[in-house]
Amino acid sequence: MSNLDKQIRNNWTVEQTEALFALPFNDLLFQAQQVHRAHFDPNRIQISVLLSIKTGACPEDCKYCSQSGHYNTNLKKEKLMQVQKVVEKAKQAKASGATRFCMAAAWKHPPKKDFPLVLEMVRQIKALGLETCVTLGTLNEEQSLALKEAGLDFYNHNLDTSPEFYNSIITTRTYAERLQTLSHVRDAGINVCAGGILGLGESRRDRVGLLTQLANLPEHPESVPINMLVRIAGTPLENAEDLDLFEFIRCVAVARIMMPKSYVRLAAGRTQMNDQAQALIFMAGANSLFYGDTLLTTSNPDEHHDIQLFKRLGIYPEMMETSKSDIQTEAELQEKIQQQHQHLFTDAAATCSTENMVAEQEA
Ligand code: SF4
Repeated sequence: MSNLDKQIRNNWTVEQTEALFALPFNDLLFQAQQVHRAHFDPNRIQISVLLSIKTGACPEDCKYCSQSGHYNTNLKKEKLMQVQKVVEKAKQAKASGATRFCMAAAWKHPPKKDFPLVLEMVRQIKALGLETCVTLGTLNEEQSLALKEAGLDFYNHNLDTSPEFYNSIITTRTYAERLQTLSHVRDAGINVCAGGILGLGESRRDRVGLLTQLANLPEHPESVPINMLVRIAGTPLENAEDLDLFEFIRCVAVARIMMPKSYVRLAAGRTQMNDQAQALIFMAGANSLFYGDTLLTTSNPDEHHDIQLFKRLGIYPEMMETSKSDIQTEAELQEKIQQQHQHLFTDAAATCSTENMVAEQEA
């Protein structure tokens, strides 16, 4: 076993996780950067696009969610999208540089009549050369195997928060059920995407508990999304207090240290963060994000803005494989980003007023 592999542990104690959180900020970021650089190119980022394929009327009561049928959030409910429409969206995502296409359905578990359609979506999107990810709620063993058979790469099922705080946020699905679904997914040979949400009113101890749970799974999730709560009017958490962004960054850094080989994803809540905060989050070890101006039912930074930010930070999107065609695709994508940047720069130079330039500096 190499020294790097020895860093992979599944026996974290709460006290050890707490000690990482308690490090001086700079020491924590330095340690996270060291771990990140040992396992990843620190300037590469994996890009996913997320699409809601069935929106609203969810029977679960997650207190943060616009799609729960328990709250009146004025959300337009939609039935399962047609397969061809979803495939079209996936093609657009690929053209914009995404390597993974994620599909989310607001279900307790996949209904019998819709499940074959989701399998067909996975098959067709996989055939485009994209990685596929779905989040469909609770899965049993049979459904997990069927998704694997269809070619699914990742299944997302978040733990959301610590086991202790969980019942304050969700009462219609248990923590144990979530762990069981993750276990079925893992046993079926599908990569696991599991993370949580910060800013739900949880304590630091709960954030410690969440990361300790994730890092002590039999295998670390390949993908660990860390979300910042997006407050939705009509949900019980619409007036939740802001979480200090430094605490969010600490959480990303601790996740990086505890799960060295996992992709740590800066997920929902990016519109509440300025560019400088996002740069610090990348420095703390986040190396994956969602691209596109909508994230399920909430907003996400504009694609052009993200491209500009990548350029300013010298960050490049990661491609899936290093086959000849992918190298070619990557070259084309880099060229596209370059052109996009030049285009934006030219536009800005032609039209920018002093006022706009000040706004840009402050953004
Ligand atoms: S299960 Fe998913 S879609 Fe349903 S209420 Fe919870 S977070 Fe929202």
